[in-house]
Amino acid sequence: MIKFCNLFSGSSGNCTFVSSKNTKILVDAGVSCLKISKALAELDVSLDEIDAILVTHEHIDHIKGITTIVNKYHVPVYASEKTWKMMDSLKVPDAYQLTFEPNNIFNIGEFNIYPFSIPHDAADPCGFSLSCENKKITIATDMGYIDNTILEQMEKSDILLLESNYDVETLKCSPYPFFLKQRISGKNGHLSNDVAGKAICHLCQRGVNNIILGHLSKENNFPELAYQTVLNELKQLDLSCNLSVANRDKIDDVLELA
Ligand SMILES: [Zn+2]
Ligand SMILES: [Zn+2]
Repeated sequence: MIKFCNLFSGSSGNCTFVSSKNTKILVDAGVSCLKISKALAELDVSLDEIDAILVTHEHIDHIKGITTIVNKYHVPVYASEKTWKMMDSLKVPDAYQLTFEPNNIFNIGEFNIYPFSIPHDAADPCGFSLSCENKKITIATDMGYIDNTILEQMEKSDILLLESNYDVETLKCSPYPFFLKQRISGKNGHLSNDVAGKAICHLCQRGVNNIILGHLSKENNFPELAYQTVLNELKQLDLSCNLSVANRDKIDDVLELA
């Protein structure tokens, strides 16, 4: 049985739990060790049991808890070489610094992991597909746009956590300075609800059924707005899927793939 649970999502911190019978993985650890430990306790999991943390990129909302987790619980951390260079200040002991090469498959316990490059303003940002027992889970947040390679990578996912960061109109009207608006909506920024919706239609037509909208902006989006925008896109094409929005500050329901 594969389990998936989004623990935290958004610019205040990201962390996702994925497990099989014998392997437990966190993707990102962008909130405090204490918060992650409490969230995992709700799933009856201790940080001691985590086999690895996969890091998508070096922004603080993805790495905040790492140093304490490593020091307290001795969990190995996987990141690309370029990302490790940017995380020098975390002072993770060498023994726990493991590397992967983007766009090359590797294994952690029972999972095959495929890190795929995504466009974002970080050194070497990646999404991840985690596969086990013929099931595939894909996590793709923090990207300015989706090209065909990324879209293909997300196909055939049994569960997809996809960024739906901002609403175009809300961002336009927000008090953010112009340069920041440009950054967010630029090709190395974040995905809008509209773009996420279009991608989801494509994926839904190819059988992706469980989709969670994640990494919503607190200032430039609303959960209901993201949900409705994507739902409207789906309705226009007479499509439907199991769509939900990731909670920011508390854990979501666990999804199980038998
Ligand atoms: Zn982020
Ligand atoms: Zn980021």
